[in-house]
Amino acid sequence: MGDWLEVDGSYGEGGGQIIRSSVSLAAITGKAVHIQNIRAKRAKPGLQNQHLTAVRAGAEICAAEMRGDAVGSTELFFRPTKKVEAAHYRFDITTAGASTLVLQTVLTPLALAGGASHVTVTGGTHNPMAPPAEYLEFVYLPALARAGLKSIMDSPRNGFYPKGGGQIRLSLSLESGFMPVDFTLRGDLLRASGIVLASNLPETVLERGEATLREFLPESVPVERRLKPSPGVGAAAFAHTEFEGGFGGFISLGEKGKPMEKVAEECGSAFEKWMQADAAVDEHLADQLVLPMALAKGRSRWRTIEVTEHLRTVLWLVGLFVPAAMEIEELGDGSGIVVIEGCGT
Ligand code: ATP
Repeated sequence: MGDWLEVDGSYGEGGGQIIRSSVSLAAITGKAVHIQNIRAKRAKPGLQNQHLTAVRAGAEICAAEMRGDAVGSTELFFRPTKKVEAAHYRFDITTAGASTLVLQTVLTPLALAGGASHVTVTGGTHNPMAPPAEYLEFVYLPALARAGLKSIMDSPRNGFYPKGGGQIRLSLSLESGFMPVDFTLRGDLLRASGIVLASNLPETVLERGEATLREFLPESVPVERRLKPSPGVGAAAFAHTEFEGGFGGFISLGEKGKPMEKVAEECGSAFEKWMQADAAVDEHLADQLVLPMALAKGRSRWRTIEVTEHLRTVLWLVGLFVPAAMEIEELGDGSGIVVIEGCGT
């Protein structure tokens, strides 16, 4: 197909990440991309609403022409027709799909466009298998701040499955491209906190969650209660750390019939395990840093607690679009060091 970059959506993890990252990279490089076998490794293959919103959001920022942009589609043609423009954008997922994943799709292209952008996404804010709003606030955006990104984020409403309707607002700008990062050694702990959050549940649920989470966190780490409006009902517990040289964030979601003590305990245990390890980046940030750092000018390194299939998949994908040298040094215990020689923009 001539000048179309071909992407096999069934590669590696074979999920939504391949589509979202392809769209981001197409927007950044101006390359036309043809993705086949979309989400071939998922129970319900093809584009779902959440992926479609991410694709359409990506299309809006670079006026892309598309074919195959429909629910259930296993093939997508995406061709940017103009440079990404920093501006005000609003995206509505219409279901409880993850708002954070839609935001991440447009974040790197908008950051690299120069100027300030303001993005509002409506949808889910707390979804299984996706970063929660607090992860953006305390992990992803602060990590990118080390690479030069200026951002302000707030989330006035929570969105839980099945109603969604939550909201995240993000303003961002980047002066002159991303700077590389080194997250290989933790160094001193700069900031840590726990958050128990809920919507349309009694305050006592949060009090119980707080009491349990407290048992897992050192005394010096504060635990905050956040009761926010939402069209739906839900609860979660989150805890995070920011070190001089690294970040980690851990969420546990509530569900019907799951006591808040259990929610807080899962989050607390993950936090404890993290504090005992010596990797500097949790396994999710490890894959989320790849795209921006491949476009940074210079060498980035981070030590991840786990080398995941998501990480391998995004390294492969980014290599199809840009000439960044990328490798993983596996350390034998499941952890590894990612080294990327960013190509700059
Ligand atoms: P699919 O429905 O095909 O699985 P998806 O779009 O829901 O697709 P993935 O392709 O699996 O999802 O990508 C999920 C992204 O969310 C990855 O970048 C992963 O690191 C991130 N992620 C998943 N869980 C968490 C979490 N608990 N905290 C932070 N980030 C997370």
